[in-house]
Amino acid sequence: MPHTKHSPTAVRTAIFTGVVALFGAALMWLLIWSELQHGSVSVNWTLFAVIAALMLICELVPATWIQFGPVATVTPLWMFAFALMLLGSPAAAVTAAVLGTTLHAVRSTANTSTIILHVGGAALSLSTAGLVLMAMDVHGSITYFDTVPWRWGLAIVLTGFSIVVANALVAAIDLSLRRRISFVGLLRRGIGARVTAEGALLSLAPLWVIGVNFSIVLVPLLGITTLLVFNSTRQTLERSHEANHDPLTGLPNRRSFLEHVSDALTDPRPTMQATMLVMDLNGFKDINDELGHQIGDTLLVAFAERLERMIRSDAIACRLGGDEFAVLLVEHADQGLVDQIVARLHQNLVAPLDIEGFPVSVGVSIGVATAPADGRTTSDLLRAADVAMYRAKRTGEASERYGNCARTPQRGRLNLLGDLDKALRHHQLHINFQPQLRIADGTVDTVEALVRWTHPEHGPVPPSEFIGLAEQTDLIGPLTDRVLRLATQMLAAHPTGGFRLAVNVSARSLYDRHFAQNVLAILAESGFSPKRLELEITERALVTNAERSIYTIEQLRQQGVRIAIDDFGVGYSSYQTLRLLKVDRVKIDRDFVQELLTQPRDRLIVASLIQLAHDLGLDVVAEGVESESVWNELARMKCDIAQGFGIAVPMGYPELRTWLSQWDHAIDTSHLVASNFGAA
Ligand code: C2E
Ligand code: CA
Ligand code: CA
Repeated sequence: MPHTKHSPTAVRTAIFTGVVALFGAALMWLLIWSELQHGSVSVNWTLFAVIAALMLICELVPATWIQFGPVATVTPLWMFAFALMLLGSPAAAVTAAVLGTTLHAVRSTANTSTIILHVGGAALSLSTAGLVLMAMDVHGSITYFDTVPWRWGLAIVLTGFSIVVANALVAAIDLSLRRRISFVGLLRRGIGARVTAEGALLSLAPLWVIGVNFSIVLVPLLGITTLLVFNSTRQTLERSHEANHDPLTGLPNRRSFLEHVSDALTDPRPTMQATMLVMDLNGFKDINDELGHQIGDTLLVAFAERLERMIRSDAIACRLGGDEFAVLLVEHADQGLVDQIVARLHQNLVAPLDIEGFPVSVGVSIGVATAPADGRTTSDLLRAADVAMYRAKRTGEASERYGNCARTPQRGRLNLLGDLDKALRHHQLHINFQPQLRIADGTVDTVEALVRWTHPEHGPVPPSEFIGLAEQTDLIGPLTDRVLRLATQMLAAHPTGGFRLAVNVSARSLYDRHFAQNVLAILAESGFSPKRLELEITERALVTNAERSIYTIEQLRQQGVRIAIDDFGVGYSSYQTLRLLKVDRVKIDRDFVQELLTQPRDRLIVASLIQLAHDLGLDVVAEGVESESVWNELARMKCDIAQGFGIAVPMGYPELRTWLSQWDHAIDTSHLVASNFGAA
């Protein structure tokens, strides 16, 4: 979205710049004219020259500027200009300051309209100050007096105040026009810091005048005092900048972004609409794991820079955290326009980034929510954009509007994650068990633990909806721990424990340095033998960090824990996993198994997978066995183990106990298998 020359924003800003310049010139002329009318006062021009010289030097040395954020700069100019004013000739003071501002503006920006705005602003605020002095009948220098009269003291305070107020107004109007955000909000916040800085420096102006008048030798002393005030002001401003910005990318952080959003939502202009975009990088975790955190950080920085460049200067981008970013657009109420902007933004954002000389591509999913239709408050809007983003992620679309998914009730990702966190802490998760049978004799080989979550409002949430989410965040660790703890505690107490317990583990957990230790500690706590545990590794994302995974698996296998590869055949790199990792078992995905009898290709694949596993010395589980005919076919193919609804559906622990005891007491289990299918 290049900033076109004639966008409404540019026109408005240009008009404002013109108005400021005109007013500045008019007030300056009025000041000079009034001063001439009043007749001459004697000015100590030597002192004037000394202070004016100091001012010009400071304007030329960037080290004496406080810069915070992209727009705000505070220099000692105002302090010196104010001091010059107190020497008796406000008109001469304003002239010197205008010269100084011009020098500064020309050095720090190439943009003519910015230069005009700054110079015009200085003329405007300082001339106002000079006129305030005159209006209060203050003529001449404060150095005339041994004791400054009260009236003068009051005039000095009011003059300083008028400078601060005029500057703040000009800066706030300018920013609110350019960024199209609420003027009041700006005055309240960003400008506040600037007022503090200027106020602190301005209050030193009378000291400069009196000190320099007393003796020129005091200049270094005053210089040091000023420097100290200047530095502490700088620190204060920097701290307030830090509080509002993300340290890695320099973008506004979540907090300050949401403040901008809330300003935009209170914008009184009826034709303007605030739209929030929430964007999430796809596959960032893999890049981070595979290429290291440093590359991950570099990528985030490069992405943030591109995002800032892509959006118009009146939009605001922020890093919400992790690999999530957001943009606030304030546009005329035109859905088509927003759609266009989003499409162009996405197109530009997914182009490969140059990371240390290599092109790295990341996908981006964008969720779009517009106020007030999709939400009237900041948090509602954020939630709506988040729901839309999650939807885009799932459907693989570049972007999604909340309006398009609002009708089908959607659980927001943020909500769900927050709720899952709560569920973990408040023990809302429970476990179902599903037996796996040896095909040769029908005995129970393994019982797989499957997590269940009954949400207090939404009811049961299927694992497919939250496991992937948990894997994207740090919640997967606690989740696995919980399942492991619950399942081992229940089964440790089980009297006839001839079978193993299988627990699902995300491949990502294997990268965790402490994972093996953690698992073994939980087993020890429950009094469950590691030899009775099997971990089913599910690979929803690429196995990237093979070395660490190998190490983790090694540690676990040394203690007797068995490893199975889950969903074999549909994962990202099933064969690669077989090559790299020492495992004990392969579970053929139910996709291949279910159509075994009707799809000759599926049958061939299953047969060769069984052969391959046996050749590698592994045993094989077929998932999704729903009928006796499939069971029989698997038996012919020498598959070792079967699992599926046809044998037993996942059930709670009490049901499992009943099921197991019936199974154990049956003499001819193969007969039971048959009757079981008959019942199913
Ligand atoms: P999975 O590991 O492949 O688990 C088997 C899934 O297939 C279970 O779904 C089970 O109910 C279902 N299933 C079993 N037999 C049949 C059948 O004959 N036909 C059909 N159509 N489905 C069958 P569930 O419980 O919804 O779990 C889905 C996935 O969620 C699991 O797939 C597993 O990848 C993941 N998951 C479940 N519990 C956990 C857990 O505690 N930790 C982790 N990391 N993942 C889990
Ligand atoms: Ca599994
Ligand atoms: Ca599976």
